[in-house]
Order: sequence, then C-alpha cells, then structure tokens
Amino acid sequence: MKKRIVNNVEYLTFKNFNKHRFLKHGFSTRHGGVSEGYFSSMNLRLESSDSKENVKRNFEIFLDIFDLKRDNAMFSDQVHDNKILVVTNKNEINCSDFDGLITDLSDFGLITFHADCVPVFFADVKKKVIGVAHSGWKGTSLNISFEMISKFKNVYNSELKDIIVGIGPSIGGCCYEVGKEVYDEFILKSDLYNEFFEKKNEKYMFDLKRTIEFDLIRAGIKKENIEISNYCTKCDSDLFFSHRAHGLKRGSMVALIVKQ
Ligand SMILES: [Zn+2]
Repeated sequence: MKKRIVNNVEYLTFKNFNKHRFLKHGFSTRHGGVSEGYFSSMNLRLESSDSKENVKRNFEIFLDIFDLKRDNAMFSDQVHDNKILVVTNKNEINCSDFDGLITDLSDFGLITFHADCVPVFFADVKKKVIGVAHSGWKGTSLNISFEMISKFKNVYNSELKDIIVGIGPSIGGCCYEVGKEVYDEFILKSDLYNEFFEKKNEKYMFDLKRTIEFDLIRAGIKKENIEISNYCTKCDSDLFFSHRAHGLKRGSMVALIVKQ
C-alpha cells in the first residue's frame, strides 16, 4: 500500500488501484481528525460515545479529500453477513444489513467501517464498476467476496480478468487468535482452509487476509490482480483503531471508494 498525507490526514491506498484514473479510494488511519482521548483523532464511527460534532467534522475532513459530501456517499450498516447492496440511485436509503456495496454511479462514495475486520476493495477497470466489503471471520466464512464477484458478473456483466481487488489493513495472522468454533466453521467447508490456521495451545492463529485471497482466486480473480496490505491493525495500533488492542475504547476507520 501507499501512504498519503493530504491536509494532515493520513490514509492508505492500493498501488493497483492508483493506476486507474477513474478510481479514487482510501483507507483512513487514526491521524488527521479532531476527536480526543481514545477516539484520537480520526474517529469515523457514527455510533460511538464520541462527540457527534467531532465525528461529523471528521467525516467532512476525510470526505473532502475525495471531493465528496456526506449526502453523496452510502454507508454500510453491516451485520457480519454476506449481503451486497447494488446501489442504483443516489437517493437509496435502505442500506441496513448489508456488509458490501457495489455501484457504477459516478461521484458517489461507498463506505464500510472497520476496526480489525478486513476491508476488501473491488473495481472492474473496463466497465468501471466499484465495490467495497466488510469481511470479518463470519462474512469470510459466508464468502462475501464470492457474493461480490457474483454481483459484478450477474448485474454488470463483468469479466473476471478485469476485476482488481485490494485486501486492506486488518488484524493479521500474527495477532488474530480464534477459538475452535471458528476453525470448525471453515474446515466444515473444506480441508483446504487448514493452511490459514496455526494451532496454538487450545486456540488458533488465523490469517483472514490470505483466506480471502484464496477465496478470490477460487472465484476466478487473477492472483496478480490482488494486492494485500501487510498492515496489522493490532500490531500498529498507533496508526489504527483495533478492537483487539483497544476493546470498546476506540473509534473506527473507514474504507472508501468512488468513481469519477
Ligand atoms: Zn499483528
């Protein structure tokens, strides 16, 4: 990934997305906002005990980098499921229970919220369709990336070779300890998932990002079209809010993509 600083706001971008002029995108960090204390400083979590004024201001600051107003963006209301909302008009208001968003509308941002769970960015660079998904372990076990690719194919007639993907900053295999119930959920689907788990006492260290890459390749996405962030949100908790590092005393980052 590439770090950018605009108006003192630090955010991260994917090199494979930066090559395409019609795309603007970014994953926010903690830096560049106005919130204080453990929300310091770029807290973009709407339902937090942070000052509403500060969160509102943070959104203005962050969206301004992408020439967006809050009314020109769709926010996911994610529930750790695998449903993708196809956004076909800018006045769409029903976004509850969707962990992924996809659109071919211009100048309209798609936003998901994160604090350890994986942001997955998508774009069809020929048909100019964009998507973003929130993929925690539940969404990953329900293969939300596959659901997203299906929308590209079935709604927008995308060809798999034209789809690029960015798997963003999230808790890494170094820090993501899960219980047997998570391991069992994946192994029930296929033994092939075994390679993404490392047994540690009674628990497992789980590499969510590599699991998503594996699912994407199985869905037909070219490996060279997938860029994976090395950032671990827990290891780098000065740069990111991390649920595992900070518990509930934290804000949230956002993943944003927009086509121009
Ligand atoms: Zn880590």
